[in-house]
Amino acid sequence: MHIPTFIEKKRDGHELSTEEIAEFILGYTSGEVPDYQAAAWAMAVYFKGMTAAETGALTRAMMHSGNVLKHPAGSPPKVDKHSTGGIGDKVSLILAPLLACDNLWVPMISGRGLGITGGTLDKLESIPGFRVGLGEDETAVQLTRIGVVMIGQTTNICPADKKLYALRDVTATVPSIPLIVASIMSKKLAESLDRLVLDVKFGSGAFMQNRTDAETLSATLCATGRECGVRTEALLTPMDEPLGHTAGNALEVWESVETLQGRGPADLVKLTLDLAERVANVPRAQLVKWLDDGTAWQKWVQLIEMQGGRAADTERICEIHAAPILHHVLATRSGRLAKMDAGFIGRACIALGAGRSKASDPIDCAVGVSAIAKVGATVQVDEPLLTIHARNAVTLQDALALIKQAVEIA
Ligand code: URA
Repeated sequence: MHIPTFIEKKRDGHELSTEEIAEFILGYTSGEVPDYQAAAWAMAVYFKGMTAAETGALTRAMMHSGNVLKHPAGSPPKVDKHSTGGIGDKVSLILAPLLACDNLWVPMISGRGLGITGGTLDKLESIPGFRVGLGEDETAVQLTRIGVVMIGQTTNICPADKKLYALRDVTATVPSIPLIVASIMSKKLAESLDRLVLDVKFGSGAFMQNRTDAETLSATLCATGRECGVRTEALLTPMDEPLGHTAGNALEVWESVETLQGRGPADLVKLTLDLAERVANVPRAQLVKWLDDGTAWQKWVQLIEMQGGRAADTERICEIHAAPILHHVLATRSGRLAKMDAGFIGRACIALGAGRSKASDPIDCAVGVSAIAKVGATVQVDEPLLTIHARNAVTLQDALALIKQAVEIA
């Protein structure tokens, strides 16, 4: 296939055929199609969109770019959750071990940070020794033993998403409904699930800035899941302020551990339960009990140890990754906290080094924001509103400039 003609066709708003999309994805995965042509094509999709048939073809081509997980007959129901991406969204770290307490299998394939949003894989990789690149055999053994595995796309599973995801992250082509749908659903369909719950976010810290776009995204995701035989539901949830009190890789692991040990912040616990109960066998009260009585924490311990980490390290993750500069941002007046804008906090985290500006950028696990005050709280002048964890004075200044725009006291 002549790739410039293929790109041109989308650029000019024409529909691509299933065969053309499959050939392009095959070529991109094998390295025959270079990144610059894939980037141009992704930008054309961003502007021109895709029909339902094209989106379905792209999802299937990406799913079949590698193997799909095969589960033994008679194994427990396979369930998962996926978020379209937010700031401080560490729900997957809590929900995956929690659901595995319920005699369910959770074969979770996640992604890295994307745009300003954090990624489950980057958070997990802040745990020394933790391996997200398990092969299919190891994945199958771990599911049989403990019922949960948390991995990334590999050269064998969803390799097309692994490449395209990293490319979109640094080419401003993330917030495109067909590209998001194909990215999420190719990973989830490769897990061979029975039930899937999606957290479709809208607001300043989400890819969909308004509820109407989020509804369209949600409908397309659910239709694709159901068409492929997976019981799929979606919740639409606001992302105008960060979830919980932290944003940044190691800081979010710390807050997840707190939650798994029964000390989670109310908004994070509520959203985790809202999502988990959509795919669980047991009622919400049982899920609450497992978070409070240490059952979910014990499952986390098994998960971390089986994938090469040490659970004790996750309890002291902020000592292992300690940023040299801690800077408290203080309230400039007394009043009610009217805004803690997730979009600006996310950009501040990128400025601090918690995310990537180009594909080869390393992640700084230690940096981010903690003790973030919640919207609606009454604050007094000079009271801390949040703490910035910075690597150096330059990134601190960049983050401060963004955080000033995030906060509003009424
Ligand atoms: N999560 C994904 O896996 N892919 C996207 O494109 C957005 C969120």
